Amino acid sequence: MAHTTSQKLFARARKVIPGGVNSPVRAYRSVNLEPPFIIRGRGSKVYDVDGNEYIDYVGSWGPMILGHAHPAIVYAVRERVARGASFGAPTILEIEMAEELCEALPSLEMVRMVNSGTEATMSAIRLARGYTGRNKIIKFAGCYHGHVDSLLVEAGSGATTLGVPDSAGVPAEFTSNTLSAVYNDLNSVDELLATLSNEIAAIIVEPVAGNMGTIPPQPGFLEGLRERCTKTGIVLIFDEVMTGFRVAYGGAQVLYNIQPDLTCLGKIIGGGLPVGAFGGRREIMEHLAPLGGVYQAGTLSGNPLAMAAGIETLRTLKTDNPYPELEKSSAYLGDGINTLLTEHDIPHYCTRVGSMLCTYFTATSVHNYEAAKTSDCERFKRFFTGMLKRGIYLAPSQFEAGFVSAAHSQDDLDLTLEAVKATLAKI
Ligand SMILES: *Cc1c(COP(=O)(O)O)cnc(C)c1O
Repeated sequence: MAHTTSQKLFARARKVIPGGVNSPVRAYRSVNLEPPFIIRGRGSKVYDVDGNEYIDYVGSWGPMILGHAHPAIVYAVRERVARGASFGAPTILEIEMAEELCEALPSLEMVRMVNSGTEATMSAIRLARGYTGRNKIIKFAGCYHGHVDSLLVEAGSGATTLGVPDSAGVPAEFTSNTLSAVYNDLNSVDELLATLSNEIAAIIVEPVAGNMGTIPPQPGFLEGLRERCTKTGIVLIFDEVMTGFRVAYGGAQVLYNIQPDLTCLGKIIGGGLPVGAFGGRREIMEHLAPLGGVYQAGTLSGNPLAMAAGIETLRTLKTDNPYPELEKSSAYLGDGINTLLTEHDIPHYCTRVGSMLCTYFTATSVHNYEAAKTSDCERFKRFFTGMLKRGIYLAPSQFEAGFVSAAHSQDDLDLTLEAVKATLAKI
């Protein structure tokens, strides 16, 4: 059988890059395929080295809310790189970015830039521990906060248990202070707080869970966390690396009107360049070096190119306000998929918050990780494969969110629903 250019490149990549990829999900292992190599993107589309065009619902796993190669972002980065890529010294851009973020997110009084979402959560946890003088943290099963040692804990079987590392190379000691609770279940939090509230530095949560598909917070869940943290002096951390500027200008905390103590950001605020940020109450943020005793640093933090792309993205989002349109287009797509699945009698549970959406191939409603895991991953695999063949580029896992961008046209959505219809007939 003739090999495609992507297949040849993947073979070449695997010789010098573990698994051929620089982040594991890109390898398409969970769908038993080989990934297309992408050569360029424009608007809602990406193109591979074999000349295939795809309607893209991955959007670089979240950042590309304005679509690919948006002219304003391209211009901003070009202008900036011509004046020098990095100085490791203060620049005006960093102030502008911090001001934009603090204005957009009422809970942010101060913010520090880092280079990835992982760095943001890692630093926010350290800061919460330094601030409170406590060591333990609570996370929720199925929530992903980057590949920080102490956060690589899922805990299993719905049990509220002491964390067990998910990855080789993470000593059990590193996760022994990580407690796991059940998403959307305040009782599971209360069980931990009952005996340990004085030892807990932080509760970290994705305010809309986006790394086990898409799971909206049930009414009262985030409010309940806020209340408990206020009462016990625990730092509430919203990990808005995915939801920030995705579900609303600002993020989920704006959509649901809840103020966390600290917020982690990434993805969209870099406009496609490597970026992260964490910020929050001044009183807490002032514990960071050089003001306070919590050390945190980065050679490329606040990098001018990333700031330029990010600031331009935020300004474009503010000026264009694509959110009402995104709500409409995403509802059209989500409802369309839901209807088609019902017509084909395929067990499913569709979720959506703004332009984040997911279809679980399961008969149960999905409000936590345990329920998400009841999905029929074999059926997802067939669905994914059929969609890819028809030019629809989805995340290659049942447990990832899909993203609609402001660049997706009505035509794109209709073509996508056509592809869903054709694919469902065969799975
Ligand atoms: C993507 C993501 C991260 C990690 O960000 P990286 O830039 O990949 O390190 C952390 N938290 C959430 C909620 C994410 O979606």
